[in-house]
Amino acid sequence: MSAQAKGEKVFRGTAVSAGICRGKILVLHRARHVIVRREIPETDVPAEIDRFEKSLVQTRLQILEIQNKVAKNLGSKEADIFEAHLQMLDDPNLLNEVFQLIKEQHSNAEYAFHSTAERFAEALLAAEDEYLSQRASDIRDFTARVLDNLLEVKDAFDLRHISEPCILVSHDLSPSTTAQLDKKLVLGFATDIGGKTSHTAIMARSLGIPAVVGLESASLELDTGDYALLDGYNGLLVVNPTDQTLFQYGQLQQHKASLNEKLTEIQRQPAVTLDGKAIHLSANIEAPADTAAVIQHGADGVGLFRTEFLFINREKLPTEEEQYQAYRQVAQALKPQSVIIRTLDLGGDKFASHLHLAQEMNPFLGWRAIRLCLAQPELFRPQLRAILRASAEGNVKMMYPMISGLDELKQANALVDKYKAELRAEGLPFDENLEVGVMIEIPAAALVADDLARHAKFFSIGSNDLIQYTLAADRTNEKVSYLYEPTHPAIVRLIKLTVDAAHRHGIWVGVCGEIAGDPNLVPLLIGLGVDELSTAPTGVAQIKYMIRRLKLTEAQELAQFAMECGSPSEIYQRCQLLARADAPSLFENKA
Ligand code: PEP
Ligand code: MG
Repeated sequence: MSAQAKGEKVFRGTAVSAGICRGKILVLHRARHVIVRREIPETDVPAEIDRFEKSLVQTRLQILEIQNKVAKNLGSKEADIFEAHLQMLDDPNLLNEVFQLIKEQHSNAEYAFHSTAERFAEALLAAEDEYLSQRASDIRDFTARVLDNLLEVKDAFDLRHISEPCILVSHDLSPSTTAQLDKKLVLGFATDIGGKTSHTAIMARSLGIPAVVGLESASLELDTGDYALLDGYNGLLVVNPTDQTLFQYGQLQQHKASLNEKLTEIQRQPAVTLDGKAIHLSANIEAPADTAAVIQHGADGVGLFRTEFLFINREKLPTEEEQYQAYRQVAQALKPQSVIIRTLDLGGDKFASHLHLAQEMNPFLGWRAIRLCLAQPELFRPQLRAILRASAEGNVKMMYPMISGLDELKQANALVDKYKAELRAEGLPFDENLEVGVMIEIPAAALVADDLARHAKFFSIGSNDLIQYTLAADRTNEKVSYLYEPTHPAIVRLIKLTVDAAHRHGIWVGVCGEIAGDPNLVPLLIGLGVDELSTAPTGVAQIKYMIRRLKLTEAQELAQFAMECGSPSEIYQRCQLLARADAPSLFENKA
């Protein structure tokens, strides 16, 4: 029965992308493949294997095409997620089983592939872990694509027939489908399954459309044409909203619109507290394409330019020249504001397929970032030379990730001196006074910050890693996410140690991890003495708003409390109280 016959009905799920939209629902059901087992005559086995291999090649080309499109439209981070699909195309465990079924049991390729892939997906789902179930969705997404190719089905999940604006409702939306959504026609989307960390959710946030996942049975209960309101703040899909509901949401939308106006008004204003403390508020970027957003959102340049984008999703290492062009492009676009380029941070959860690094038991404690670079001059030299050459623009700074102590820092600095000498000899220009900083993201670095400060021009606290390493809680593992607490006293004290050491030596300290983009935590960071904050370009305006409504004195009182308190949750509550008292409109999400 249509929801229209039933009056208002509210489906509750998880909000993954903020915003509200209203409109007609379009229910999308992915066409299910009917896979039958056929017996292949012995003589046809080579042809069947050939057919299967061709479908894999075709799938690879399609994924690369989507990946390219996504990289252009949404950025490199979103494009990275197709790397998992490409890796599955080469997964020997999966493919060998399929080949075996075709060769030994004379199975048709569709059946051999579908049954094997489904078994892999089921095994991942059985673990009941959010990350692994996301990998299972990846397998199913990629399986459907291979099957489309084997069965010669033309785009079974065709979004081209959307002709008027709608809210998409579906059991699941794969990242590759989400990547093809047209923002003008898709007002928002809602799915039965999925979680906050799913790739689809990340894409929705980048697209800037409201999205709610985990609505369980919405796609079965609803019909195309039903009218609904999607609330991406509170995770609700309200079908057939009553006038009262529409009125309340109208008020929330008005509130958000007036907040946006206020945020736009201060876009060109400085990030300064009510009592005059100026904070350098910059943006994190991952690719040259992100510079437009840095300018649009009024950030003071770039506080973290992650350079891994140049190294993943490709067959060969980027040359010095290619890197130089990318770095120079960003520096030129943002002049005279500064651009802090972080040297390569591969390893951990970020791998480049062409480097063929051995698998490690503990990749986050392994051969990552500066460790890898110092050991591999063929990797580090072109990057350092490229950054040095780009520094000729005059507004470039550089920092090293994952420094654990003084020897590493000295080694890296010695290499910079060596490559400066090379460039001088070659007559290539660079900034002789290039400022080089250190990321503080290993607890040991915070503890020896005094020593490091003598050899660095600034510090940037990588809180994502600092929290993970201090609390021994893998930042990608949902099972230990409850331990991942930014207001743990150990984190507060390490930040304070870092700030005090830096200031004793006359250098500044920034924070470029995710906590710099959380308005609840910004007063604490400022109270602890942090001089710079760097966050996603889209988060800059609300952080500036928070800063402009804050007094340094009250932030310092909060920091004092946090330094003396032993409880992470009590510290967080005090942070929330202050943030909400000073900037209530940032936190009003209820309709
Ligand atoms: C961090 O660790 O906080 C950081 C900014 O670096 P990344 O997230 O790239 O490891
Ligand atoms: Mg880090």
